[in-house]
Parts: sequence; C-alpha cells; structure tokens
Amino acid sequence: MEKQKIGFIGLGRMGGPMSSRLLAAGYDLTVLDVNSAAMDALAGKGAKRAASAREVADESDIVITSLPKPDIVLQAALGENGIAQGQRAKIMLDVSTTGPSTARQVAEGLARTGKQWVDCPVSGGIKGATEGTLALMVSCPSATYETIEPLIANFGKAFHVGEDAGLGQVVKLANNMLAAAAIFLTAEAMAMGVKAGVKPGVMLDIINLSTGRNSASQDKFPKSVLPGTFDFGFATGLSYKDVRLCVDESETLGVPMVGGALVRQILAITQSKYGADSDFTCMAKLIEDWSGVEIRG
Ligand code: NAD
Repeated sequence: MEKQKIGFIGLGRMGGPMSSRLLAAGYDLTVLDVNSAAMDALAGKGAKRAASAREVADESDIVITSLPKPDIVLQAALGENGIAQGQRAKIMLDVSTTGPSTARQVAEGLARTGKQWVDCPVSGGIKGATEGTLALMVSCPSATYETIEPLIANFGKAFHVGEDAGLGQVVKLANNMLAAAAIFLTAEAMAMGVKAGVKPGVMLDIINLSTGRNSASQDKFPKSVLPGTFDFGFATGLSYKDVRLCVDESETLGVPMVGGALVRQILAITQSKYGADSDFTCMAKLIEDWSGVEIRG
C-alpha cells in the first residue's frame, strides 16, 4: 500500500524531531514553519517546503500540527489560507496542547469542509519526540483511528481515549497540571531540607526511594535544578498556558481545582520574573529566591 503523504506544521522543539522521524521512516513530507531555519533543517533531510498551511493541505493526506498556542492552531486550521481550504488533506492531527474548547472549535470548522479533526496531544518531552517514546492521547472516530495508527506509531505509544474532539486534550491538561505541581512542591520540600542543612543530592536520593518521589524529583531536579542549568526543555510560557487551560476546563466542568489554581499563579509569577521563554524548572528558582537558599549539588 502506498504510504500516506504527510504535512507537518510547526517544526520546533517537539515538531522538529517528530517530523525527522517521519522522514527517516520513509514518509513523503511537506513542512511549514514561520522560522525559516527550522524549515531549512528539515528540507536538508528531504522534506518539501510549503508557503502556507493551505499548501501543506494541498500536498498531503494528513496534516500534523505542533504549534505553541490555541490561537495559532485555530489560524493554521481555519484562517485565511488555512488547512480547511486545502484540496487533498482529509485529516488534521494536532499534537499541540491546545485545550478541549479549541479542539471542538477546530473540529466543527473542519467538518464543514469534509475534514476530520484528531486530538493527539503528546507527553514525554524532546527526548520522547526524538526517540519515538511519547505517550499519545488520541480522540477521534474509530475508523479514523485505524487510518492514523501506523503513522502515529512512529511517535510512541498511542491511547485511544474516545471519539469526541477534546477528550485527548482533557487528559493532557490533567497530566501537565500534575507535572507542573510536582516541580513547585518538590522545590518547596527541597528548599526546606537544604536550608536546614541536608545535602540536596542526599535529600533527592531519599525522596526517590520514598513515597514522595515524582516526575520532578526523579527527572527534572537531577537534570536541571541540582546542576543549576534550568534547561529541561519546556518553556514556562507553555506550562503556564497548559495549567491555565486546565483550570479553566475544570471550572467549566464544575470541578473545583484549588491546587491547580495555585500552580497557575506560581507559573504566572515565574513567567513575570524569568520570562515566557525561560524553562519551567525556573519555578524552583523562584522558590529558591523566596527561601534564600540554592538547591545545588
Ligand atoms: P516550540 O515553540 O519549540 O515550537 C513551535 C514551532 O511552531 C516553532 O518552530 C515556531 O516557529 C512555529 N510556529 C509558530 N507559529 C507558527 C505559525 N503560525 N505557522 C507555522 N509555524 C509556526 O514549541 P514546542 O515545545 O515544540 O511545543 C509545541 C507544542 O507541543 C505546544 O503546544 C506544547 O505545549 C506541546 N508540547 C511540548 C512539549 C515539550 O516538552 N516541549 C511536550 C509536549 C507537548
């Protein structure tokens, strides 16, 4: 069977390695990014360049988007020269974290032009994107899932969450709120121990063998906080966006999210102090600053 032709819009920290994996797997790939250097890198590996989202959809059966914010996804899908206007593509598969309401809005807009939306937010960071070990949270009709399954197997392990647009996004927002909360609370716990005189490495080793262990203590602190590099690979601005979307969705559903709202404010302060482009491990830097102690080792 002839391989599907794929379009990829947004070749950043996640989209760059994910699209490279598709080229390596032999897919015919058409790419678009507002950053021409990102396009050059993929064109150098054999991808075709496009000048608009519509052109990507004219050239591809399935268009994948990996874009930073909901309004950018909306524009790429339904805006002028957007994916909805493309002739060939029947499916738009969004691996960005855009939230359920954007997912539903884009799904409705695409349906008017006979195209199918697929929510496919991912987790696992740049390492997972590079190695093809992401967790994929997919929601779309079962028939569409069968069509996309071989394609998304290149990115990692897929879970078909349900059929309705936005369900994959709900799972993703819940996960990212938890991931951000883990950094914030681990920083508070570590700052207390270190200020009292415990060595940071010893404290982390104990937590990681005990009931307090979490994704921040096991991964983010050893890699990016103890060395003081604050470079784990996920932007504060994106984490803030995710937690904001999470708390908003929770409120819409009538589910109180007191802890999530707190994490949202910690991210707002981290962003105003270190900038939206800083790494989200800078939440720990904020706690260090408030505590007058550095968690290094
Ligand atoms: P990024 O900022 O590195 O990449 C986004 C890319 O989109 C950039 O190359 C940018 O130039 C491009 N872009 C922006 N506007 C565009 C437009 N109008 N048309 C075409 N290209 C445009 O971000 P990222 O870290 O790769 O994240 C992408 C998405 O994946 C986000 O929604 C994020 O929340 C999600 N995500 C990120 C991670 C991570 O660890 N970085 C993990 C899971 C999910």
